[in-house]
Amino acid sequence: MSTILILGAGPAGAAVALGLRRLGYRVSIVSEWRRFPALEGVSLRVLEALRAAGLEHALVDATLPSQRKVSWNGQQHAQNIEWLLDRPRFDRGLREDLQRAGVELIEGRVLAVQSSASGHQVQIEGHADLQADFLVESRGRQAPALGKGLRGPETVSLLNRWQGAPGATASAVESIEQGWVWMARQADGCCYWQLTVDVASADLPGKAQLLDYCRERRRTSALATAFFADGPEVDVHLHARSSTAILCPQVCGDNWIRVGDAAMAVDPLSGNGIFQSLSSALQAPVVINTLLRAPERAALAQQFHRQRVEQLFLRFARIGRDFYADEQRWQDQPFWKARRQWPDAELAHKPADFSAVSVQQAPVLRDGLVDEAEVVVTADQPLGVWHLQGIELAPLVRRLQTEPAQQALAGLSKEQEHLVRSWLLSQGYRP
Ligand code: FAD
Repeated sequence: MSTILILGAGPAGAAVALGLRRLGYRVSIVSEWRRFPALEGVSLRVLEALRAAGLEHALVDATLPSQRKVSWNGQQHAQNIEWLLDRPRFDRGLREDLQRAGVELIEGRVLAVQSSASGHQVQIEGHADLQADFLVESRGRQAPALGKGLRGPETVSLLNRWQGAPGATASAVESIEQGWVWMARQADGCCYWQLTVDVASADLPGKAQLLDYCRERRRTSALATAFFADGPEVDVHLHARSSTAILCPQVCGDNWIRVGDAAMAVDPLSGNGIFQSLSSALQAPVVINTLLRAPERAALAQQFHRQRVEQLFLRFARIGRDFYADEQRWQDQPFWKARRQWPDAELAHKPADFSAVSVQQAPVLRDGLVDEAEVVVTADQPLGVWHLQGIELAPLVRRLQTEPAQQALAGLSKEQEHLVRSWLLSQGYRP
């Protein structure tokens, strides 16, 4: 059997490993552990997706939801609930999930990878080299670049962490002239404040003055002052990370695949990074299975992965652009100006138009392999929809182009007909 090696045990690498185990593969994963403490917020749907992927232990701490205050464009609201994940603990939980699933876990820093058509040789600090037939690249933003992909405006996030007074778990987001800020407090009093700014225009001071720069930004923010209630800031740490949106120009080949942030890293604006990284990872085991067991379908499998990663990235980038455009007080400031125009002017969600609906051949997932089938392509779903809760749509849409709905849908149960009719209406079908 082929040897599969995964580089990087974040949520994406872990989800691929578990998916491959379910398909019966032996899997090894090599990773170093995250070096800096960070807190990340996720929504309920991310918790559900992580659970569905089998990553239960990663979530043992995600028990307390926090109501997120938002101050954007001068307006305040608190409609969102988010769960705060302590990343080092979350990552430890991922490793426990991996071990329980029988994945071989190797702790070490990957120094170099040499790849050819016949396999990969991986050099790991403090270990003998490893050989693998198939490689999964999931080292997140640290994965080596593969040439020029699509990049958003260069962005950096400065995270401050300190020990404050214990209190209720809470989080908040605020737009400011230079960018935006996310802040959170855990029940034990550990406080986080993260400023995201434009690299080119922020005019940041040198490293030694960065903490003072951040303190000054906090001091002049009414929301931060109220949020942290002038509590003590003991032992303040700073960690800077790039948060530029990046789409890798190539995301798979015959014997390798990229998933998670290594394939596409999104803007952390709406706290959706883990979700996006899981989305590209969850489809990967079937793509890998196809490349290994049905190599005659390699081109189709690669097309499936590539198109989905690109589609996810662009859709998310356009949603982010619209969110930036909602902030109108500083439209001419470099941070806001660049982001309200990137990546393009296309709508994030295209309006329904039944006349534009077509039936096309496209890659789909069937019985653990990538296969080809007729799908229905709509304005908002350019990759096509194959099934609607088990009902194949292409044959129905074909018939609807020439027959009245009553006749075309005659073979469906009442419930199925209701489902299909609602979907058709949402696609602009007006018989
Ligand atoms: P990662 O989680 O980065 O995992 C990669 C793994 O590879 C790590 O374990 C790393 O140690 C390992 N690794 C890297 N290099 C090597 C090497 N050379 N050798 C061995 N191992 C290596 N997402 C949210 O959902 N909510 C948020 O609030 C949020 N906030 C964010 C704030 C910022 C500033 C940034 C930059 C991102 C944020 N994200 C957030 C995004 C989220 O962190 C990522 O999308 C997600 O962790 C990606 O998962 P991954 O598995 O692809 O990569």
